[in-house]
Amino acid sequence: MIDIAIIGGGPAGLAAGLYAARGGASTVLFEEVFVGGQAAKTPRIDNYPGFTDGIEGSELGIRMHDQAVRFGLDIRYEPVDGLDLAYPTKSVQTAHGCVLSKTVILSMGASPKKLNLKNEDSFVGAGLSYCASCDGAFFRNKEVCVIGGGDTALQDALYLARFAKKVYLIHRRNEFRGCKLLQSSVLAENNIEVLWSHVATELLGEGAIEGIRLRHIESNTIKELVLSGVFIAVGIEPRTDLVRGQLQLSTEGYIKTDEAMRTALAGVYAAGDARETPLRQVVTAVSDGAVAATSALEYLSTLKQAASN
Ligand code: NAP
Repeated sequence: MIDIAIIGGGPAGLAAGLYAARGGASTVLFEEVFVGGQAAKTPRIDNYPGFTDGIEGSELGIRMHDQAVRFGLDIRYEPVDGLDLAYPTKSVQTAHGCVLSKTVILSMGASPKKLNLKNEDSFVGAGLSYCASCDGAFFRNKEVCVIGGGDTALQDALYLARFAKKVYLIHRRNEFRGCKLLQSSVLAENNIEVLWSHVATELLGEGAIEGIRLRHIESNTIKELVLSGVFIAVGIEPRTDLVRGQLQLSTEGYIKTDEAMRTALAGVYAAGDARETPLRQVVTAVSDGAVAATSALEYLSTLKQAASN
């Protein structure tokens, strides 16, 4: 049996792994595909302290990985199929079997929301993407759009403007939600055109994206754009299906914790974007991870003390 199982290898999970392994606990982090989480898909992170000129999200993820592994974190690239959290011994199930652990840190993060347009799924990989830094380079000298008005949409539009001939930024309101600095960078960019108060009503194309149909929300005027790519950046949703029914979740599905990242179940903690929190940034995720691991280490020492009495 291990001491700490960490589910998810984004900044929260990697920081938890660093603190747990460095704290002497036998720790396994389970990750589906690659470490770094949503942050690794962010072209540039300018607000993580210590990097004067900013840092590419994937590079930050790799550095966090290497640092945690240096202290003995065991990272397994195995998607978790099931979790049993109710008993003192927790179990983590993957296709490779079952790992028993004294504690679990839930850091599954969040994934991009869909717009739920007709045929949205069928266009994924055929001109439709939820990750500008992953797919942007395919659209060199092409016309594309980004849908959304938060930090992700603004960053994606700026990133795509480096490759694409033209980027339409389509937002449903007449002001952005994203931060002021990104707003002014977007508005200063020559090849970004903002279409305020527009919503997408249909993706157009035979087999691959050829355009998009939009509606102006006040006048109801319909407009069609000829495009090669559509990037959707309309927010995130927590990846908490694994714990639904076992833990208390907010109405949006985020895991509820106290300030020490403890859930209502002894030995179970949550950290990062999957947790109910007022701010979702890399800096808050790593802080959550550090606090969760520290709480887990404290819990492990109370177990040890109880066993020796
Ligand atoms: P977000 O802040 O929730 O913004 C989502 C945007 O999509 C909003 O502008 C929203 O419009 C729009 N939207 C939502 N549903 C829509 C729909 N059905 N149709 C059209 N538009 C829709 O999401 P995010 O930008 O992905 O950011 C998520 C979190 O990560 C935030 O806390 C953000 O600050 C953080 N983040 C930080 C950084 C960074 O610091 N470098 C980078 C990326 C993200 P309304 O504005 O009208 O609601």
